[in-house]
Amino acid sequence: MSSINDTASQAFIALGSNLENPTSQIRKAFDELDKIPSSKLLVYSSLYRSAPVGRLDQPDFINAVAKIETRLNPHELLSALLEIERRHGRTRNFPNAPRTLDLDILLYDDLEYHQHDLTLPHPRISQRAFVLQPLMEIAPNCRIPGYNTIAELLATCQNQRVERITP
Ligand code: ADP
Ligand code: MG
Repeated sequence: MSSINDTASQAFIALGSNLENPTSQIRKAFDELDKIPSSKLLVYSSLYRSAPVGRLDQPDFINAVAKIETRLNPHELLSALLEIERRHGRTRNFPNAPRTLDLDILLYDDLEYHQHDLTLPHPRISQRAFVLQPLMEIAPNCRIPGYNTIAELLATCQNQRVERITP
């Protein structure tokens, strides 16, 4: 039995970190995305600094978005991402807790999908400037199934502090 798709899909991954040298956690994660089996890294955004959401008494986050090509199905891809998080020492203490590395699937082709452990597009994609801004940088015209354009979504998140870090 092969669990690999016949054709390659394109997925957008959100990266975030606010512990233990976040910038290097994210840069390392770009390399690791490229090494996921049957997958390759196509494009990645600049790094962005954002204020924490939900729980404010924690360090700022470093965020980015990457585009990959993959022959893994969405659940296999999620498992590969959780394994990378685990290698970065990720623990899950409580919702919105500080983290060494968070890897979320934002989009997988134009799939709309809802299961207990995986929702696509990512359920909070439309409300988070720290995701929309890097996505706007690398794929300004990409369609988010079920939502408005990225530019329109970004316009509704103007109050969120996100700044691009100049290299
Ligand atoms: P969050 O990213 O929301 O802060 P976690 O990283 O702890 O929280 O993720 C909790 C769970 O969210 C994951 O174990 C995964 O099963 C689920 N999940 C649902 N949809 C997605 C998605 N699109 N990308 C990543 N994880 C998702
Ligand atoms: Mg996550």
